[in-house]
Amino acid sequence: MAAFRTAAAVVDALPEGELDRRIRTRTLTDLRGIGPKTGAAIVQAHAGEVPEYLARLEEAYSELVPLADDVAEFRSALRGDLHTHSDWSDGGSPIREMAEAAIALGHEYMALTDHSPRLTVANGLTAERLERQLDVVAELNEELSPFRILTGIECDIHLDGSLDQTDELLGRLDVVVASVHSDLRAESAAMTARMLAAVANPHTDVLGHCTGRLLIPREQREGRRQRPRPESAFDAEAVFSACVEHGTAVEINSRPERLDPPLRLLSLAVELGCSFSIDTDAHAPGQLDWQDNGCERAVETGVDVDRVVNTWTADELLDWTAG
Ligand SMILES: [Zn+2]
Ligand SMILES: [Zn+2]
Repeated sequence: MAAFRTAAAVVDALPEGELDRRIRTRTLTDLRGIGPKTGAAIVQAHAGEVPEYLARLEEAYSELVPLADDVAEFRSALRGDLHTHSDWSDGGSPIREMAEAAIALGHEYMALTDHSPRLTVANGLTAERLERQLDVVAELNEELSPFRILTGIECDIHLDGSLDQTDELLGRLDVVVASVHSDLRAESAAMTARMLAAVANPHTDVLGHCTGRLLIPREQREGRRQRPRPESAFDAEAVFSACVEHGTAVEINSRPERLDPPLRLLSLAVELGCSFSIDTDAHAPGQLDWQDNGCERAVETGVDVDRVVNTWTADELLDWTAG
């Protein structure tokens, strides 16, 4: 990493406007101390992206580096996860395997939040399939007690801000995570109105991965490959303030390719007094362990552990989502 420190010092010392000029004219690497790798990282960082090289390093080493004490303590306060997928939608594993992995991690509960009907690429559940899933979950819960699978959904937010499932079903679910998955490049005003409507919906408990950014490319079902994408534009202050007003938690999404919200927005949400849910958005049992990422970011931005809804007991949590 010394090369990056050197390169950062070189960039810091450049006169105003010189970095832009060098990026434009592709002459960054003419500077002493900046090579092809560090040069590429600077260009990506300058464009507001986490450099691909750094993201990969972080991913590769995160499993080897022990958690800092304060992060480990934060993590140990989490009792469950409010955003997980099974093979009923685009996850890779049966509900039971996800639940068993959560139990092995010491969790007390896991909200099962498979996708809603509109997200056909992710095999979203129709109302009929969701009804059937509720029966399956009820049976599993008898068997796995005292562990509790909370019923739920990751519900698409339509363009007009309405939610992609019947009101009746949304009312029966324990946890509703509402997320934007389409038209991510919309104008800020339209995106803000869309998110505000979803946050104000009485069924919504958690606002999922609010910016929709993807830091590194990823493989999806059927070999589909998604390219990195920047944050959606929206009025974060208005949206987070609405979250406070309507008692909707802001998700801290722990997926390494998401890490959403970005730290600057997470700090804003802390400042405005939001509640949070530190979720993995796991699509496989091993991914349930990703909460470390979210805890690290929560500690870094001064999130109060009592404001994290998944540190609460299942009963406290259900009181909150019902309210
Ligand atoms: Zn999602
Ligand atoms: Zn998800």
